[in-house]
Amino acid sequence: MALGHEFRQNQRINEANRAASRANRYSENMEEKLGEIEARTEHLTLLCQAMWEILQAKAKFPNELLVEKLAEIKHRDFGPNGKKIFSCDSCGRALNKHHLNKCMYCGKEQDAKGPFDMI
Ligand SMILES: [Zn+2]
Repeated sequence: MALGHEFRQNQRINEANRAASRANRYSENMEEKLGEIEARTEHLTLLCQAMWEILQAKAKFPNELLVEKLAEIKHRDFGPNGKKIFSCDSCGRALNKHHLNKCMYCGKEQDAKGPFDMI
């Protein structure tokens, strides 16, 4: 009886240790991916800043132009939760982000989206 109890107890401990190891590996993997995303985001931010500074220097675009355009895009393409909204070309309802090529409500095949819509 005591041996059976001890055996089951050891099984539970081993299962818990394996689960903890899996969680630890997952956490390390996510941490590595987050680091990659942060590095890419920082690089893209620098690219945007460089492009904007070139436009300011060469074409004399004022900062207000960029601020107004950002506000316009945010209002037009993003929901109140800050997430991008894809709307049907025909009925205007929200598209499923995994099926952007066809509206699940009216069935309309969607026109090709712009290069920034797929980011
Ligand atoms: Zn539709």
